[in-house]
Amino acid sequence: MILLSICPVCGYSDLFEPPYSDNSGSCPSFEVCSCCGFEFGYDDHNKNYSFSEYRDNWITNGFPFYYQDDKPKDWNKQIMELQLRNVTKVFYVPRLPAP
Ligand SMILES: [Zn+2]
Repeated sequence: MILLSICPVCGYSDLFEPPYSDNSGSCPSFEVCSCCGFEFGYDDHNKNYSFSEYRDNWITNGFPFYYQDDKPKDWNKQIMELQLRNVTKVFYVPRLPAP
């Protein structure tokens, strides 16, 4: 099983490490995605967001690039949509929230 350092929310491919230690959401990295701002292990486990819910909100809010220092100069809707295609390369599920 190859774990890619791709954000399952927005498709950002420059995460420092894979967001979880396996496909089922174990051992989240607690990294905050530079692009969409999703924190693996927090926004899912504590805030109860699914990836698609968070993604929909993010897009509705104008897909702001979270960490300005990593923001591409030409960040726009077209680039965002291209990047979103990366989501299909990963098969993570969010960490389930506490019952
Ligand atoms: Zn992201």
